[in-house]
Amino acid sequence: MEQTLSIIKPDGVARGLVGKVIQRIEGLGLKIGAIKMVHMSRFQAEGFYAVHRERPFFESLTAFMSSGPAVVMVLQGENAIARWRELMGATDYRKAAEGTLRREFATDIEKNVVHGSDAPETAAFEIGYFFNRFEIIA
Ligand code: GDP
Repeated sequence: MEQTLSIIKPDGVARGLVGKVIQRIEGLGLKIGAIKMVHMSRFQAEGFYAVHRERPFFESLTAFMSSGPAVVMVLQGENAIARWRELMGATDYRKAAEGTLRREFATDIEKNVVHGSDAPETAAFEIGYFFNRFEIIA
């Protein structure tokens, strides 16, 4: 059993895509171990994306991620990290495979609807960023 952090980003929430995304997650057989809405401050968004601090899009990304409410979830299941990333699709929606959430819903390389951890270490950091262990259903 593996855990990953999933976010429906502010563009996804604003566009009313929460139900559709969760339906696809459940369709994939991943279990939601924890879920909540957060409206990140700029400071929180900067901490979450600290690994991207040197990237040219850091300012824009953290402004976007703190621009409105997002849904954060812990997803659980076998190979949860890779399976959730596969359902999300490539970062750039124009390169994302058919049937992926980003291909279907994203409008922009930045406003790409969803986030998913990319490795067990980042998943542990990202889950701990939003949830304590008592909030996660095993
Ligand atoms: P992810 O793991 O697929 O989300 O991609 P990355 O970790 O590389 O990037 C994190 C997030 O930064 C992406 O999901 C996008 O929202 C944003 N991003 C990535 N590349 C670019 C870019 O070239 N320009 C802009 N404006 N945003 C980007």
